[in-house]
Amino acid sequence: MILFNPGPVNLSARVRAALGGADICHREPEFARLQGAIRDRLLAVYALEPATWAGVVLSGSGTLAVEAMLASLVPDDGRVLIIENGVYGERMTRIAECHGLNHARISFEWGAPVDLDALRQRLAEGDVSHVAAVHHETTTGRLNDLPGLTEVCHAAGTALLLDTVSGFGAEAIDFEGCGQSIAACAATANKCLHGAPGAAFVLARRDALLQASRRSLYLDLAAHCRAQDDDSTPFTPAIPAFYALAEALAEHAEQGGVAARRAHYRALAARLESGLRDSGITPLLPADASSCVLRAYNLPEGTDYGTLHDRLRQRGFVIYAGQSSLAHRIFRVSTMGAVGQADIERFLSAVAESIQP
Ligand SMILES: *Cc1c(COP(=O)(O)O)cnc(C)c1O
Repeated sequence: MILFNPGPVNLSARVRAALGGADICHREPEFARLQGAIRDRLLAVYALEPATWAGVVLSGSGTLAVEAMLASLVPDDGRVLIIENGVYGERMTRIAECHGLNHARISFEWGAPVDLDALRQRLAEGDVSHVAAVHHETTTGRLNDLPGLTEVCHAAGTALLLDTVSGFGAEAIDFEGCGQSIAACAATANKCLHGAPGAAFVLARRDALLQASRRSLYLDLAAHCRAQDDDSTPFTPAIPAFYALAEALAEHAEQGGVAARRAHYRALAARLESGLRDSGITPLLPADASSCVLRAYNLPEGTDYGTLHDRLRQRGFVIYAGQSSLAHRIFRVSTMGAVGQADIERFLSAVAESIQP
């Protein structure tokens, strides 16, 4: 089955093979080497300085990493402003509510861009220490304007916490640009890095970790980081997912890193868009507002999602539904994972067959 859902992704043969690595104890040197290699390679993806940044590997899905980041890095005397323009921004607000974080929100329509002037004005009220934002809002495929966000945050003296779950490894992220306003980002193994589900991570500035709060035992990011700096881990990790992540990071680097992965996704997405247009299917957002990772398409007139999904599934492809109010309007196609041009060509033929009455 070819997975066009936004993670988990189809694994390459070498990453799948890594899942079957040796049985090891997480209190032995073999595990310390595995974890250390992952932490080093995570920082290397965006060439981050180990003296300034820490990679903290966690067991769980992307949401766990986002929750650990927010619950740990908004200080007790701080206040986080959460930017919403889709499901994942709204999920951060729910996380803030669960942990009783002092928070506020600024909301835009799903699919709409973040209004940077409105954000600037909101920050001028001066009651916010942190901003939390989603880089690629997977709800609609919109790539939020990260250079713009970092600039506005820098000008207001606020730190930025990023959900980069569906962009890390493929989208450009200038971690040290614009006054170093990015304090941390959270992401997962099984999206653009092409690892297996079960491992996630936060990259955080070490000075932000020094001021971390402890609102949860399991999600205490600073405690995880201290243990990992000590070649240890507080709890039992998802070792097979760690093996796969280490291999996926090696493969990512060998294939040319972030720029090469972005170019690969873009080539697939461009072919997909032109082929779908030939079948009369148009994208929800213009290409220059979209991530390289996933595009949302308007369901063709007279086709419901369930039928399209089932027909494509019979032909070996999994597409992804829109959420809530978009469920009846769009479908989504992600080009992450071990898929290539030949898969896209076969998919386009399957779509052409599937939308016939
Ligand atoms: C996939 C995703 C998540 C996390 O989802 P999980 O199911 O917990 O892995 C968070 N944010 C964004 C933007 C995502 O695309």
